[in-house]
Amino acid sequence: HPQLQTLDRTAAFHAAERPDRTAVVCEGREVGYGELHRRSNRTARALHAAGAVRGSRVAYLGKESEHYYDILFGCAKAGTVLVPINWRLTASEVDHILRDSGTSLLFVEDEFLDVAHKAAAELPSQVRIVALDGPAGPGSGFTAWQAGHSDADPEESASPDDPIAQIYTSGTTGLPKGVVLAHRSFFKVRDALASEGLGWIDWREDDVSLIGIPGFHIGGLWWATQGFNAGVTNVAMRMFVSGEAVRLIREHGVSTTCLVPAMLQMMLAEPGAGTADFATLRKIVYGGSPISESLLQECLERIGCEFAQIYGLTETGNTAVCLPPHEHVAGGARLKAAGRPYPGFEAKIVDRAGRALPTGAIGEVCLRTPSRMLSYWGLPEATADTLVDGWIHTGDAGYLDDGGYVFICDRIKDTIIVAGENVYPAEIENALARHEAVVEAAVVGVPDERWGEAIHAFVVVRPGHEVSPRQLVLALKGTVADFKIPSGFEFIETLPRNPSGKILRRELRDRFWQDRERQVN
Ligand code: ATP
Repeated sequence: HPQLQTLDRTAAFHAAERPDRTAVVCEGREVGYGELHRRSNRTARALHAAGAVRGSRVAYLGKESEHYYDILFGCAKAGTVLVPINWRLTASEVDHILRDSGTSLLFVEDEFLDVAHKAAAELPSQVRIVALDGPAGPGSGFTAWQAGHSDADPEESASPDDPIAQIYTSGTTGLPKGVVLAHRSFFKVRDALASEGLGWIDWREDDVSLIGIPGFHIGGLWWATQGFNAGVTNVAMRMFVSGEAVRLIREHGVSTTCLVPAMLQMMLAEPGAGTADFATLRKIVYGGSPISESLLQECLERIGCEFAQIYGLTETGNTAVCLPPHEHVAGGARLKAAGRPYPGFEAKIVDRAGRALPTGAIGEVCLRTPSRMLSYWGLPEATADTLVDGWIHTGDAGYLDDGGYVFICDRIKDTIIVAGENVYPAEIENALARHEAVVEAAVVGVPDERWGEAIHAFVVVRPGHEVSPRQLVLALKGTVADFKIPSGFEFIETLPRNPSGKILRRELRDRFWQDRERQVN
């Protein structure tokens, strides 16, 4: 629907086109597009009545719920900016986000009320807390809060450059920063692909989409808005649970979804999950962290639908790079790529001084996209460091091939430097995961007197298997160069991950570096 360019129009447009089509299903409750439009109109009016004005920050602390979308579209219609907060955060972390964003109104689900009150207690300015749940059950507090307001269309409309969301990065690389995204961040990709006739990420009238990535993460918010913009039915999970995802796919005939690799891995490990469970899926979009070759191969064999990989950052808004389905052929040369930029998007590789590097050379990946962030909230210096002449500096090491495909090696800050040689953890983790006894692995750099850093591996062993460090070393020999073979091994039950599935390497690494500074590339 190329006429759609702002999220305030999304619900209005589909309310006129398909009022009775289910827009969202969450915990068995269904909301049609007509109803979503009316509810979000009421929300916008209630926001104004509560004192919110254009540009006010409005936060949401809760799991995915039907009301999350009332609030998202209500904010779009009221001109306010939604700050979705990760519900796993502690009170002091929530306090940082509320303080930094200057949030004036905070919607909270019951189970997070304590955290919200603790977080808000210390703030210099007052935050009004609206409890979403009430005596009449989940969400009834919110319904009561917006009751009595008219559901007529708002008078004003948004423009594509108006801010609509402020998403806090998960902080795997430092203190969370608020990334301010405009409406245009949620539209450009589809327009670009449609205008070029490319079906990399396409939508069909009868699609049923599963929302599995949390809505406080760019991946979840982006995917949800894509489904709503297309006017399809969206099945929203309160939180991702692999067995539940498999059940919902079967029950609702889900045809498309966007997941991070860790979610795909968990779904495939569900006891009894087989091809029949995934029969209705026609396309899975995945990304957000590197995928191991063995997992991708397993997905292709066991799920058997089309796959498209995406690569992007919160800072690029939309994803920027896509590995289209036709490149997902077993043994294909580009199966290790993250993909190529969408039409109208660009990628380049630069050295430390910011000079462009030739094809094949490894450096920092930079992306220029029409859907990039407006800025980091209140951080002009950090914005100027990341956004240079319209290019987002990603902090990822990678290279381009002669067809313009982007290959991601790993995060620059996670690169291990062994005797001056760069080792990218993802390559070693991949090689370890190819061993039949290994489910997954993470490697980090630890201090080493002789070589500067040595490689230490954390390995999760497949149930019922046994493997020794010596056997793993032997398996790696010949696969990767000798200097890339870990010198230490630890066997652990699970890898620490953030909610978007990224391995928290810093958590694994920190205890080795307690008394010294780590040099970063
Ligand atoms: P922080 O920047 O604080 O760590 P974050 O982890 O939430 O926060 P995101 O914007 O969610 O940051 O993640 C962006 C990063 O995810 C990229 O820079 C890259 O390292 C990784 N990533 C995303 N997609 C892919 C992909 N397809 N392949 C490999 N890595 C990916």
